[in-house]
Amino acid sequence: MSTDDTTPAPSAKLPCAPTNGGLAGTEDAQSRHAALLARIAQAALAAGRDPSTVQLLAVSKTFGPDAILALAACGQRDFGENYLQEALPKMAACAAHASWPMQWHFIGPIQSNKTRPIAEHFDWVHSVERERVAARLNEQRPAELPPLHVCIQVDVSGEATKSGCDPLEALALARAISAMPRLRLRGLMAIPAPSADPVVQRAQFARVKAVYETIRSEGIDLDTLSMGMSGDLEEAIGQGATIVRVGTALFGSRPSRTT
Ligand SMILES: *Cc1c(COP(=O)(O)O)cnc(C)c1O
Repeated sequence: MSTDDTTPAPSAKLPCAPTNGGLAGTEDAQSRHAALLARIAQAALAAGRDPSTVQLLAVSKTFGPDAILALAACGQRDFGENYLQEALPKMAACAAHASWPMQWHFIGPIQSNKTRPIAEHFDWVHSVERERVAARLNEQRPAELPPLHVCIQVDVSGEATKSGCDPLEALALARAISAMPRLRLRGLMAIPAPSADPVVQRAQFARVKAVYETIRSEGIDLDTLSMGMSGDLEEAIGQGATIVRVGTALFGSRPSRTT
């Protein structure tokens, strides 16, 4: 998902051995990462797609720098975080230890008074749902950094409590963001309502894809559909996902969040 063609793809054959003296859990990380890449590739082939068109975003929320660096040693370069306060110290710790260029994606809810650190520290933001937040990110993106890659989060769950903009408002928001010079609009992100029924999953992902095609048909250049997680990535890839965001299947189960 780097725009720089010289950056190795996540599947590039890099040595998976720890280079900084024995990272905890490296073998587990290696086998889980390899199994997940195979699962993604299989889903892409089943959908008649080239596996290289689907990128893996490792969702590292609640996991520490050791677990993140163990995956980075396997060639994983893109990591997603939901909570700013948790993410910033982890990102600093990883930067101090990693000898690889890591890309950080913010995927959590954004409070408008917390946009500055996001604009300053992340490469991507998947969870933009309001023009006001986009405008602040645009204003606060430091001039020495490349434009911030942005996805609009769309709510296709039909539940009023879910986050994301109304699909009917996505086109207007896409137009507004396209005009912001310090942001680079890449596509849409969605977190469908959880369902164990593949038919329901598919219908929600298809809805995101339809919004994506509507925006593209208006001449706005999008290339990213960020959808699919540990439990539904096959259905998401079947409906056109270009980034799957995976936590549990890579890192194991998370402690339940109490705050
Ligand atoms: C936690 C999270 C994920 C990963 O979910 P898993 O089911 O653990 O794969 C993906 N996207 C977002 C926005 C998340 O918060």
